[in-house]
Amino acid sequence: MALSRQDPKINAQWARVRGILRSEVGDAAYRSWLKPLTLTSVADAKVSIAVPTRFMRDWVLSHYGDRLRELWQQENDSVDEISVFVQAASQKPIIRETGAAPAEAPAAAPPSELPRARPPVNGSGSGCDSLADISAPLDPRFTFDNFVVGKPNELAYAAARRVADSESAAFNPLFLYGGVGLGKTHLMHAIALHTRQRFPSRRVAYLSAEKFMYHFVRALRFHNTMPFKEMFRSVDLLMIDDVQFINGKESTQEEFFHTFNDLVDNNRQVVISADKSPSDLEMEERLRSRLGWGLVADIHATTYELRLGILDAKADRLSAEIPPKVKEFLAHRITSNVRELEGALNRVVAHATLVGREISLETCQEVLHDLLRANDRRVTIEEIQKRVAEHFNIRIADMHSARRARAVARPRQVAMYLSKQLTSRSLPEIGRKFGGRDHTTVMHAVKKIEELRQADSGFCEDVDLLRRMLES
Ligand code: ADP
Ligand code: MG
Repeated sequence: MALSRQDPKINAQWARVRGILRSEVGDAAYRSWLKPLTLTSVADAKVSIAVPTRFMRDWVLSHYGDRLRELWQQENDSVDEISVFVQAASQKPIIRETGAAPAEAPAAAPPSELPRARPPVNGSGSGCDSLADISAPLDPRFTFDNFVVGKPNELAYAAARRVADSESAAFNPLFLYGGVGLGKTHLMHAIALHTRQRFPSRRVAYLSAEKFMYHFVRALRFHNTMPFKEMFRSVDLLMIDDVQFINGKESTQEEFFHTFNDLVDNNRQVVISADKSPSDLEMEERLRSRLGWGLVADIHATTYELRLGILDAKADRLSAEIPPKVKEFLAHRITSNVRELEGALNRVVAHATLVGREISLETCQEVLHDLLRANDRRVTIEEIQKRVAEHFNIRIADMHSARRARAVARPRQVAMYLSKQLTSRSLPEIGRKFGGRDHTTVMHAVKKIEELRQADSGFCEDVDLLRRMLES
């Protein structure tokens, strides 16, 4: 059933979806990530949503994609896919903020204005407008006070505090790394918020690596890299989040490297985060090694105690009465990361508020059944190798062997591809599990399989079948 975008019913549905999401994620996250979404169509079981940047698309999909789909399905059970795509700033959005969105501040900006001006990170205006423009907004909730410290993150926390409290560069760089949703961004925002308060004259820039690349590439395009370089080099504290995204693009890596060296040489503090250690990053060797020169602080997977501590703290902040049994249940069962744990708690609380029922173990299981299932099941690379080997009728040993015959090489590539898709392992880690192969081999395999999937629909179905089997 294709529904027109102008359909008031669709607008109302969209408004409800946004309203619920807003109550679940809070105002700050809503403003940063969800408000800029533009619904463009609901047709053929697909809801299409435009966003202004590629970074935003990835963020929205990874953080809110599943929830968006669920909420849409509640509104409209014919929906089974959410497609988020990038719409350049010059293109006119079709539907912007729908008027019906509850408690929405009146949209002051004209509808074609895309990423809204960022508030300056440091108050001083003189000559640093552009710095204010490129610094991402800080989430005021991401403070040190709100960060629950436990064994897995104590080093990262202590290092972040030291950086924020120090008069001069403490460790340069501070490199924070850990899996998704474990608090890297939270700690970086906390450093920025704290520095801003303690040393108001310091120039602080916090931005994602993706954004750094975007600005650099734009400067290149307009043959205007000098101001870009100078702007970064004038910063006292530079924080770049998710540097694993600076990959492949040599000129950007080069620029990043120079900026980085300049700052460090001038005793300015640099803080970097990534989802893997410096040596596992897919970057030029000298940059990798340089990133590891300061302090490398690994944030480990959460422990039961930490999860319980986090639930206590969050429940307090939400002023929600949560029975200890429910907290224990959540801490036991939602083990993936803090973001999911937080999301689960928010959902349970939102549900209880909406239906006016007390929070119990039963409602909790009911509301979270999808999340609980996903947390139950984590595919390992070994399982993938086993299944793929069975499927193609080769020996598991051939997953590790050096044999290059197509009959074993192709299944091996499929297994590498699925390992990349279905696990959170990095390319070098995957390479190691396939007989100590190099990460470039894995990268090549992923690319090759993607190409074959495009070219050969039978093959594509085969791979999808394997994927579904592994996921189920
Ligand atoms: P990452 O950047 O590592 O992917 P984030 O910093 O975005 O993760 O954290 C995800 C969510 O989990 C955020 O809402 C953050 O506030 C919360 N969080 C993570 N670690 C902690 C912690 N130790 N205490 C409190 N909240 C945490
Ligand atoms: Mg992050």
